[in-house]
Amino acid sequence: MKAVQYRTVGAAPEVVTVPDPEPGPGQVMLKVTAAGVCHSDIAVMSRPAEQIPFPLPLTLGHEGVGTVAALGDGVSGLSVGDSVAVYGPWGCGTCVKCAEGKENYCLRARELGITPPGLGSPGAMAEYMIVDDPRHLVPLGGLDPVQAVPLTDAGLTPYHAIKRSLPKLVPGATAVVIGAGGLGHVAIQLLRVMTAVRVIALDVAEDKLALARAVGAHETVLSDKDAAAKVRELTGGIGAQVVLDFVGAPPTVATAGAAAAIDSDVTIVGLGGGALPVGFGSLPYNTTVTSPYWGSRSELAEVLDLARVGSVEVHVETYTLDEAPLAYERLHHGKVNGRAVILP
Ligand code: NAD
Ligand code: ZN
Ligand code: ZN
Repeated sequence: MKAVQYRTVGAAPEVVTVPDPEPGPGQVMLKVTAAGVCHSDIAVMSRPAEQIPFPLPLTLGHEGVGTVAALGDGVSGLSVGDSVAVYGPWGCGTCVKCAEGKENYCLRARELGITPPGLGSPGAMAEYMIVDDPRHLVPLGGLDPVQAVPLTDAGLTPYHAIKRSLPKLVPGATAVVIGAGGLGHVAIQLLRVMTAVRVIALDVAEDKLALARAVGAHETVLSDKDAAAKVRELTGGIGAQVVLDFVGAPPTVATAGAAAAIDSDVTIVGLGGGALPVGFGSLPYNTTVTSPYWGSRSELAEVLDLARVGSVEVHVETYTLDEAPLAYERLHHGKVNGRAVILP
């Protein structure tokens, strides 16, 4: 089968032919219908060899949906032909966090060498993929695969980040979204449907700010050194109760801290290498800074339910498997509006 692989450190991903996989005991094989392209792949592929957390070559794609093609021995509760979304942050299934459904915070994944598809295990950018356990599948329930696939990360990750801050997202509060890309443009929609806050979106690109307005941002601000002052101005000097940074670079985390209100949450989702010092004099009183990772199994089901009632609509650009390297190149250069989706 064809697969998109990261093979050589520093080189672009390549389309190659690899043997068709077969499901082992307890596993499920999917015929992939769509796979999403995430900026995290670019972040990982930009690292030097010693910092790449998995062996190469690696089949990319940690956002995947497909139809069940074959069941390994002992798998029940699924039928060939079922349309499913892959829950990507695989855990051990037995630790206390996994028992809560928070496999994204599995306590034993590292020790046991469990890695997500596309980030260590063979991913969704191929004609077929292996899912290690049926509990990592959520029924699509009639959702369009192309629309649904980004929800497994670009939807789930902001949903998880927003949900933990709901107590602060009361009517009259302000949320700032930094980076209106794949994750950010979904975050804006989630904020609009889950809360009654005012949403201010920041980005460096005018077309991304236009997308932010189209999906529900009340205000948009160019992300430069004056952006935090603009947020303060728009909030009567108070600042934002929640700042979600989908870039996470040194200048954006600085903006996030400077735009935060007293008793606020600053949530750094982007892997841009920025860090924010906490301590008296650094941030307004009782500001919480956190860096959440992906989301839980039940949260994925909730995000898919929101999409099913039409509350979230991902803006997608589609590419063939052969065009996947082009999709990565366009994402790297900020040319993708919304999410790029590969159709194997
Ligand atoms: P993307 O490229 O689709 O979106 C990034 C957006 O940020 C773009 O619109 C870009 O114009 C904008 N941007 C760039 N520099 C900016 C700046 N200085 N100020 C404001 N906006 C700026 O990327 P994505 O796939 O949405 O991913 C966003 C980030 O989230 C990446 O760093 C990715 O690695 C990370 N991520 C983290 C998790 C997690 O679990 N924590 C999960 C998925 C993705
Ligand atoms: Zn991702
Ligand atoms: Zn676990």
